[in-house]
Amino acid sequence: MIPYLDEFRDGKLAQVIAARIVDEVLPGRRYRLMEFCGGHTHAIFRYGVQDLLPPAVELIHGPGCPVCVLPVGRIDNAIELARRPGVILASYADMLRVPASGGMSLLKARAQGADVRMVYAASDALKLAQDNPQREVVFFAIGFETTTPPTALVIRQAAGLGLRNFTVFCNHVLTPPAMAAIVDSPDGAGSDLDGFIGPAHVSTVIGTQPYEQFVAQFDKPVVIAGFEPLDVLQAVLMLVRQINAGRALVENEYSRAVTPEGNRKAQAAMADVFELRDAFEWRGLGLLPHSALRIRERYAAIDAEKRFAVPPIAAHDHKACECGAVLRGVIKPQECKVFGTVCTPDNPIGACMVSSEGACAAWYSYGRLGRAQA
Ligand code: SF4
Repeated sequence: MIPYLDEFRDGKLAQVIAARIVDEVLPGRRYRLMEFCGGHTHAIFRYGVQDLLPPAVELIHGPGCPVCVLPVGRIDNAIELARRPGVILASYADMLRVPASGGMSLLKARAQGADVRMVYAASDALKLAQDNPQREVVFFAIGFETTTPPTALVIRQAAGLGLRNFTVFCNHVLTPPAMAAIVDSPDGAGSDLDGFIGPAHVSTVIGTQPYEQFVAQFDKPVVIAGFEPLDVLQAVLMLVRQINAGRALVENEYSRAVTPEGNRKAQAAMADVFELRDAFEWRGLGLLPHSALRIRERYAAIDAEKRFAVPPIAAHDHKACECGAVLRGVIKPQECKVFGTVCTPDNPIGACMVSSEGACAAWYSYGRLGRAQA
């Protein structure tokens, strides 16, 4: 048995929690719960969590997939950087496959001659710069608060080493503003959500406290949950209980890893290196105020946007792609006309079909023969 894994995948216990949920849902009441994070979406499909729940409980997939929320224009920017003479552009594997304008992607740019490298960690990109002093290495940094501290650390390390051939194209985004944007969207699509399953890894960094303001403002309960199936089921039960009691609180199911204050050292590193952008465009959510980070002036020499004068690019998704609606929970992946036909993991038309954390990829991989085709 693997501690902290197998015990949270116990099928008999899952049935017990599911039975409690069935017992506690109120007759005639619907519970629309959004799991913000793609890690939860993946777990829900992989372990068939939705199938254990009563019909009254609907899980809505949120925008918490790092590559999915990046707008096309920023990927166009990365491709343009990669094509510059002497540049090595480094990023995470999923990012290389996300479609950009005109059917292009970083992988396709590589096939056309751009030097695009896949890395597993921000530190790999730094090493690339140390190993290639005659080249300009640009790290295409993406992700929520989970991947932000490692980027902060390599920026500080590069500054400390005086590396002149290393820059970061920063695209780090923040979770609480995106949750607020979903509930507060102009089309009202998120207003009938009853509660949120809060992200696991993000919350190990930021803690539970940053969700308090969201709960106070929107009166929607949030339960932070781990990524195992029993975590998700327990979070659903906790949300159902809050909703039944008319409460809206931040609760922490993932107390084995998440504390109220989070990881202070990681937060200090982030605060040293980054500051809030006034606004940042999200795929599907539009321009959101104070929802992303940029590199502080003291590290300007490592900021790719400054060194290469990266311009804003207004670009659009493929016209058949409905990732925006999927990311806001307005439609299910299979409601997109090209789901599973033209758009598949081997031939993704939109970002949500690329990463395993994307809702479309999760539906395709685990849901096609079951509920997704029901
Ligand atoms: S199925 Fe493909 S095209 Fe449709 S929303 Fe999902 S990623 Fe976009």
